[in-house]
Amino acid sequence: MTFASLGLSDALARAVAELGYDEPTPVQRAAIPVVLRGGDVLASAKTGSGKTAAFLLPLLEALRARPGGAVRPVRAFILVPTRELAAQIVDSLQRYGRHLKKPLKTCLAVGGVSANPQMLALRGGADVVVATPGRALDLVDQNALRLGAVETLVLDEADRLFSLGFADELNRLLALLPARRQNLLFSATFPPAVRTFAERLLHEPTRIDVDDGELPSSDLILQRAIQVDAPRRTMLLRQLLETHAWSHVLTFVASRYAADHVALKLNRAGIPATSLHGDLSQGARTQALADFKAKRVRVLVATDVAARGLDIAGLPAVVNYDLPRSTVDYVHRIGRTGRAGDPGVAISFVSADTEAHFRLIEKRNHLSVAREQVAGFEPTLTAVSAAPPLDANGGVKGRRKSKKDKLREAAAAVPPPKRKP
Ligand code: AMP
Repeated sequence: MTFASLGLSDALARAVAELGYDEPTPVQRAAIPVVLRGGDVLASAKTGSGKTAAFLLPLLEALRARPGGAVRPVRAFILVPTRELAAQIVDSLQRYGRHLKKPLKTCLAVGGVSANPQMLALRGGADVVVATPGRALDLVDQNALRLGAVETLVLDEADRLFSLGFADELNRLLALLPARRQNLLFSATFPPAVRTFAERLLHEPTRIDVDDGELPSSDLILQRAIQVDAPRRTMLLRQLLETHAWSHVLTFVASRYAADHVALKLNRAGIPATSLHGDLSQGARTQALADFKAKRVRVLVATDVAARGLDIAGLPAVVNYDLPRSTVDYVHRIGRTGRAGDPGVAISFVSADTEAHFRLIEKRNHLSVAREQVAGFEPTLTAVSAAPPLDANGGVKGRRKSKKDKLREAAAAVPPPKRKP
């Protein structure tokens, strides 16, 4: 099957061929014809499945086939959870659309940077707007963004939009859109909030579920779990970087502080590293990502919020310095590598304290990863001795358990074996 046989015109088929896409991925095969027909789509698709092109290519085709007039009302409105994902989508739009006879105008509307340039850019209208919900509403309030002529709404990574607390903004934005429109919803998971929302939003959608709960390219990702005491993780990471010829490595940590701290320690050891987290200015985030993609730094130390949805070509390794809190995030994290046919390795550091949580990650994702030890880094701490010190109130100093932590622990607790009387 080819992109042309799915109904895409020569200009688009040529652009994707130049990008090295030999044939459409399953989500593209399923979604492109439906979107071209004007139907609604409810797709379960993860990053790495080719979902971005699955909605962008038919959108571009539709916009190309029915060009707008001199005034450009916003016809396609794409909502995403993070600024990085929005920037990536605009980038893809430009690459896919580069052979179109009449260039389409695309605007980015994201927070963290001044709104003025975005308002200016929107002045003459735009064919496509890619936005995060908060900034989109700000621009609407400023009369810079008008959504009354939107023909297609796309919600990408809908589960993340909800988990980041954008429900109110989404509802306000929906109220501004015309009632008759096409709706495309892409999500990696379907928690109840997303399901309810999808039912309300979509009109007789075509359901696309290509992943079937499996990793898109799990056979290309070698998963490893190395047992190590928590205080020795940076040393182990340094050793791994010395013994493997990885060109660049994405390392996940649990907090903004840890991201800065680990990056600093690596830099001090002569390994070019930078951090990526939500406390950084938008300029610093963009710079960190650009440096990593251009391989000016070898290690990017990131939190989940900042790293979600990132597409880093040819990334050979992902290291879970801290395990993800959410078992679903494990799949997202390791899916940063092993993309587009390239093999990758995903290494998780597991300590006595986090062993139970890693077991839960394995169970939820139907995985079994052998535990390994690296010579010189054999763990010596037990779960109790590895525990952080208690504070004066008997709580764990600097680490109060959240509701989620407690739920997770309850879920991880294995019931004691029943003894026969
Ligand atoms: P996505 O799931 O949209 O984040 O895409 C994952 C990666 O796959 C991106 O780097 C795309 O450029 C690439 N990609 C998308 N479609 C194809 C295709 N049909 N063939 C090869 N690579 C693709």
